[in-house]
Amino acid sequence: MRHGIVGYIISKLCVHDVVTIISVYDVLNVVTYALCFLRGEKTMKRIVTKEDYLQSLKDLHHAVYYNGKRVEDVTEHPALRPHIESAALTYELALRPEHEDLMTAISHLTGKRINRFTHIHQSVDDLIKKVQMLRLIAHETGSCFQRCVGFDALNSVYMTTYDLDQKHKTDYFERFKKYLLHVQESNVMVVGGMTDTKGDRSLPPTKQADPDLFTHVVERRSDGIVIRGAKAHMTGGINSHEILIMPTQAMKEEDRDYALSCAIPLNTPGVILIFGRQTNEERKFEQGIDAGNPFGAVGGEALIVFENVFVPWDRVFLCGEYDMAGLLVERFATLHRQNYGGCKGGVSDILVGATALAAEYQGTAAASHVKEKLAEMIHLAETIYSGSVACSAMGYKTPSGAYYPDPLLANTTKHNVTRHIYEISRLAHDIAGGIVATMPFQGDLESSEVGRYVKKYLAGVKGIPVEDRMKILRLIENMSGGTALIESMHGAGSPQTQKVMYGRLGNLEQKKRWAKRIVGID
Ligand code: SF4
Ligand code: FE
Repeated sequence: MRHGIVGYIISKLCVHDVVTIISVYDVLNVVTYALCFLRGEKTMKRIVTKEDYLQSLKDLHHAVYYNGKRVEDVTEHPALRPHIESAALTYELALRPEHEDLMTAISHLTGKRINRFTHIHQSVDDLIKKVQMLRLIAHETGSCFQRCVGFDALNSVYMTTYDLDQKHKTDYFERFKKYLLHVQESNVMVVGGMTDTKGDRSLPPTKQADPDLFTHVVERRSDGIVIRGAKAHMTGGINSHEILIMPTQAMKEEDRDYALSCAIPLNTPGVILIFGRQTNEERKFEQGIDAGNPFGAVGGEALIVFENVFVPWDRVFLCGEYDMAGLLVERFATLHRQNYGGCKGGVSDILVGATALAAEYQGTAAASHVKEKLAEMIHLAETIYSGSVACSAMGYKTPSGAYYPDPLLANTTKHNVTRHIYEISRLAHDIAGGIVATMPFQGDLESSEVGRYVKKYLAGVKGIPVEDRMKILRLIENMSGGTALIESMHGAGSPQTQKVMYGRLGNLEQKKRWAKRIVGID
């Protein structure tokens, strides 16, 4: 059909038009393909170690911008490096024998051992191991490690292309399995591209003043599609190799050009990545105490722009089947919300530990109210973790064979995170004291003029070096404010999106029937 339309259009054009189209499009395409091939060749090499990962990012030559300037090598940029160090642990930990069970899995496609971040869940056990793995990595980083978004995109597109083919008699599932094989074999990091910029939220995609405010297909060709738009808040965007695009919301028939899923290497011409500003990001330019956490406070987020980007058909997994967009969005959201008690539970463990140390260093650890507040922090951290384990344990098999967490429980887990992380942070501030917000620079500690005063007046319990106390207080500041809190609120969807799911999945009618039955109302 697509060839038929293209053939028809070509038959209506004069020879000069055809030659013009060939000379503009096809020459550009040949150049584009050649560039992609040359640039992409090195990233196709299997990434195994942290060093492989860093080298693959150096070789990517993608168009990354930080504060208006093009970044030639993301691995050398001080504001980007902490996030890269954090994501690198998803490679490094997978090589440690003691973590093999959590960090790796057996591919259902090849039978080979692969990094779990490229795996399709084959059982409830896989779902639970995912959550355990996230808590484990968070214990190493105290920060977001970013690779889960692409992991969830792979799983949600896998199970939805299967259902899509059943309904529409298409061949997306086979295409996607080939793409998945490439991801598993090369071990690339994929960013999950869901959130569009959305412009005027009261208007659907086709009614926006600028049609590009939702990512969409601008041209269908015999060899592929051309897309335009942008994806916002892309966690791990600048240090991933590819993006797996999905629609941002359920779509109607008139929005069919916006019902789109496809995979694009981030070094494809027309892809531009603009890194997002963060609270206290200058701290990342510091190397020592003032950095707070060498892995950054949160994952690095980017605005990823697609300026007329060509995507070959073998990397297109949804194109116009608007009736399947909502299901894909719901599945991705559930799979990502499943995570939050894992990673944020692990991050909370670090914050609880740091807060307990701050109390010890300043001599308040024995106070009953401090013990009580630390216990409350542990209770909140374990509550969010148990939600992630519960939605995984109640997971089930989808028609594709891939396993899927219980969506209602996954949503309540993420909803709890939007509240509990704020409360855990509030308690950390309460125990650690105002010094978290007023502590001098490391430079003052080391100053020949004022260093002796910092050492004298920031001293706590005898025998504890002031430097250690400052390190812990700076870590608490890093983990409990600004971007870290907002990420817990809006990452994987704002609280309102979880409440919408309660309306759909909460089965209020059944609950009313149970209440009536107990008191004998007919
Ligand atoms: Fe993974 Fe958590 Fe970061 Fe999301 S916030 S990418 S689930 S570590
Ligand atoms: Fe997130």
